[in-house]
Amino acid sequence: MTTLAKARPSRSARVPTVGMVSLGCPKALVDSERIVTQLRAEGYVLSGSYDGADLVIVNTCGFIDAAVQESLDAIGEALAENGKVIVTGCLGAKTEGGENLVAKVHPKVLAVTGPHAADEVMRRVHAQLPKPHDPFTDLVPPAGVKLTPRHYAYLKISEGCNHRCTFCIIPSLRGDLVSRPIGEVMREAESLVKQGVRELLVISQDTSAYGVDVKYKLDFVGGRAVKTKMTELVRELGRLGVWIRLHYVYPYPHVDEIVPLMAEGKVLPYLDVPFQHAHPRILKLMKRPASGEKNIERIRAWRALCPELTIRSTFIAGFPGESEEEFEYLLDFLREAQLDRVGCFAYSPVEGAAANALPGMLPDDVREERRARFMAVQQEISRARLARKVGTTQRVLIDEVGPTVAVGRSSADAPEIDGLVYVKTRRKLAAGEFVDVRITAAEEHDLHGVPA
Ligand code: SF4
Repeated sequence: MTTLAKARPSRSARVPTVGMVSLGCPKALVDSERIVTQLRAEGYVLSGSYDGADLVIVNTCGFIDAAVQESLDAIGEALAENGKVIVTGCLGAKTEGGENLVAKVHPKVLAVTGPHAADEVMRRVHAQLPKPHDPFTDLVPPAGVKLTPRHYAYLKISEGCNHRCTFCIIPSLRGDLVSRPIGEVMREAESLVKQGVRELLVISQDTSAYGVDVKYKLDFVGGRAVKTKMTELVRELGRLGVWIRLHYVYPYPHVDEIVPLMAEGKVLPYLDVPFQHAHPRILKLMKRPASGEKNIERIRAWRALCPELTIRSTFIAGFPGESEEEFEYLLDFLREAQLDRVGCFAYSPVEGAAANALPGMLPDDVREERRARFMAVQQEISRARLARKVGTTQRVLIDEVGPTVAVGRSSADAPEIDGLVYVKTRRKLAAGEFVDVRITAAEEHDLHGVPA
């Protein structure tokens, strides 16, 4: 045995006790320290001997052949002396003939993770050896306290933004993009689903850029190595069996890869794409991400792949320097794109935004008049698109229940920002229940129906 952490060698009958064998370089040692710190913070006792431990964690090295052998021997020793072993570290990520090397040589280990996987190791420890009861923190649900209703939750996948849109000050407030590791995001998502959440709303400043900052680094999801990347995340979330709704997706080419998952029903056929404008000169002045993309063609291709797709967007009317022709160009885009849900703001100079220094600031009434003209065009589009749903059957997630009418949302409706479905029924429905609803009438934003 190379290093078994020496702290409180005694084994208590009541307190769960863990042994730690740490091999390899200083980076591995720091990983071991994180795990040991977390174990202690959660109330586990550390054991200095194999027989005093309820289970043993072996942090391995896989750098050179000698280190691989030393790690495999250490795992063998821990299995022989204790029997319950969780393996982590570099060797845990090594494969041979497509199989995980550790699992192949030592099939009796309880779990194998790769390096920098303290959270995953803790999850495996919890599964084998429940953490001691803490009367204070045990009152808090595992995914933290949520302010949303019990059946839906926001899942934040990153913080900050690498873009510098001239009307926005978010990067100066929140800094550059920092993506959460995919394993951590998935654990939160799984925990929320276990607590009864039926809809997860993926949010960030720029969902399409997820993982760019960490160069799509590999992380562990359920023992599998998965890239911290939007397409992979959407695929993983799609396995959870709940509604997954994507917000703040920019129209980069790789977004095309997730539309087939929507067509297959793995995630909701819903994309929230904040276009903000359509005219190339204005988009350039706004310094918008993906401003060079051919958005109309992309929308057409998405709808060809997934006819059910709902596209929501937001726009700014009356940006500094926007000419009447450029605004008309935006209206033409709107008529052609036939977006389902749209919000529009008259340009408003946010303190500190670079766009305030652009020439050609428009008077308030012009900005407001353009916003109203924009919304008038969109209202007709929204009304016509919703009217097509009359006679169809839509799956609805119930949000609120009244004596004769329940209020819910279809796949096309995000909470707070989109429309509602009013379901007339004498049956007792419950918030968080899915109901198939036959649509009987449509308004400008909302639908009405009865259980199918
Ligand atoms: S508006 Fe632009 S700069 Fe602001 S958060 Fe969105 S992408 Fe980033």
